[in-house]
Amino acid sequence: MHVVKGKINQAIDAIKSQIIQVAEAIFDHPETGNQEYFAADLLTGILTEKGFRITRPLGQLPTAFRAQMAIAPGPVVGLLAEYDALPGLGHACGHNLIAAASLGAALGLAAVKDELRGSIVVLGTPAEESCGAKVLLVRDGVLDDLDVALMFHPGDANIVEVSSLALEALEFIFEGRAAHAASCPEEGANALEAVIQLFNNINALRPYLKDEASIHGIIVEGGVSPNIIPERAVARFYLRARTREALNRVAQRVEDCATAAALATGTRFWYHNYEPSYEAMLVNRTLAAAWQRNLQELGVTDLAPASRSRGSLDMGNVSRLVPAIHPYLSLNAGRLVPHTRQFARVVRGEAGRQLAVLAARALAWTAADVMLDRELLARIKEEFAGGQVTK
Ligand SMILES: [Zn+2]
Repeated sequence: MHVVKGKINQAIDAIKSQIIQVAEAIFDHPETGNQEYFAADLLTGILTEKGFRITRPLGQLPTAFRAQMAIAPGPVVGLLAEYDALPGLGHACGHNLIAAASLGAALGLAAVKDELRGSIVVLGTPAEESCGAKVLLVRDGVLDDLDVALMFHPGDANIVEVSSLALEALEFIFEGRAAHAASCPEEGANALEAVIQLFNNINALRPYLKDEASIHGIIVEGGVSPNIIPERAVARFYLRARTREALNRVAQRVEDCATAAALATGTRFWYHNYEPSYEAMLVNRTLAAAWQRNLQELGVTDLAPASRSRGSLDMGNVSRLVPAIHPYLSLNAGRLVPHTRQFARVVRGEAGRQLAVLAARALAWTAADVMLDRELLARIKEEFAGGQVTK
């Protein structure tokens, strides 16, 4: 194994400048969710050149792709590449580094393919910041044949185990009756009052939630003129909780809040999911331990404790289908808040360049472990089979 990892390192040394160029080119052409044509073209272009077979688009996603190199029968290792930017802020979440690192890992592995078995798959997963394309790719079966799914995310600490909350995106639509608000209010039924009541009911519920549940909402429609009783009002919420079961309980309570609001105001309502649901991230600890060993061997020793993120990741759905990790690696630039201009500056600087290459090495080494160490893969799968109970 040591020999193979040494060769992977040499291969990545040889393409260091290409990894950095890709990271910087994507940074310099920021594209928001499902618009990442430059990034997808760039990545699939390089992968084609290196002998990967490309499938694109995937389903309805024009900038999603799957690039595969089948070496020999054996494990199928998925390296996930994100490449979407944020409106107005560009690559202030560093997804360009994720793309460059997964590409670099795939090329590093491809360069030593005679020493490996199995298949290398690079999955281009767009729109992480908006519609969560991984949820759709999981639904469409694009990841069904993977044995593991690997990716990293840049941050301000080295965190091996990153879990996240399950998320439900619900839109409530209330329908009342329009009438002149001043001269004949008794003829109307106020849908905006129902939405306000829904918020008040949720606020009454909020202190009694457990399992790190949270509810955040906005009013999307609230009437058209003060002298017309609003006949339609719409509110959107993100509901989150540590487990799917807890989230389902919260969703039931919120539905009860809406029922009460409708009763109180004489309106009716319906609701639906306006964005895909995210599952809570289930970290495969055996796979995470392999990643950690590799990191340490690569000289990364300042590891932060496991983090229970209060946000949500579309990688959560992947982690319920196949054993997966979504570790963070530090940009080593002090405290950094993602989705800020400062984060973007660090991503575009020397810290970003070094991190893309380091992450490529760690991903490639971990992929090689999975491809070559049958006993490790068996333990990863055993944990996965027993670990579907959410923690
Ligand atoms: Zn991100």
